[in-house]
Amino acid sequence: MSGRKGKWNMFKEYLLDIFFPRHVKCIFCGEELNGNDYNDTCEKCLLTLPYIKNCCLRCGEPLSADKEGICLRCTSTNYDFELARSVFEYTDKIISVVHKYKYKNQKFLSEPISNYLCDYLAKWDIKVDMVCAVPLFKKKEKERGFNQAKLLAENVAEKFDLPYVDAVLKVKDNPSQTTLSFKERQENVLDVYAINENLKKDIKDKSILLIDDIYTTGATANAIAKILKSAHAKAVYVLTFAHAIIKQEL
Ligand SMILES: [Zn+2]
Ligand SMILES: [Zn+2]
Repeated sequence: MSGRKGKWNMFKEYLLDIFFPRHVKCIFCGEELNGNDYNDTCEKCLLTLPYIKNCCLRCGEPLSADKEGICLRCTSTNYDFELARSVFEYTDKIISVVHKYKYKNQKFLSEPISNYLCDYLAKWDIKVDMVCAVPLFKKKEKERGFNQAKLLAENVAEKFDLPYVDAVLKVKDNPSQTTLSFKERQENVLDVYAINENLKKDIKDKSILLIDDIYTTGATANAIAKILKSAHAKAVYVLTFAHAIIKQEL
């Protein structure tokens, strides 16, 4: 994938930097930036960020360096998406940034987070036609003020000059997935999502990139991929900022 950034966006960022200077502290550790930073990340954090170097070829689960192929769960799970990848392991530094972004209303973090997604996508050997996000239930989106995944997906779409589409809607408010097991998570997402009928014809035969902040068991990504596939999407790829590891119970 290759990207480009419009002149207008660069100008917009330039203006924002003047009026709202915020690129002063590392988003991960809070240290003052000294000019040797990249993407609002200090030199020290850049060297220690938990990039996933070796992963399950199907779901992107981090694997130890001596392992290759697919993870245990993927040996017995059928997914409706083609591939899932995550940039980082969900360790302390990453958790704290995601929490600040999602729950502390630090919306500006969408930019550095999506830049990390863009860096990954630029090297990932896939071709996509459009970008979509894991939707939130309307009431929840109102409470939070924004859909964190959608903001990321819109940034990614813009940088790669691709259309962003609200392809799937969340039509039922299911309980939070956080404390559920793999099996419970799969059941918890049944009938929760539905295709956006207005966009159905745009999805047909298209290769779609689905963006979310965290990948845990793949249950959510899979439920959405299933819906996109039933609307005749050609392929669904999943990209998340972080991959949380929960014990594989198989
Ligand atoms: Zn730092
Ligand atoms: Zn896997």
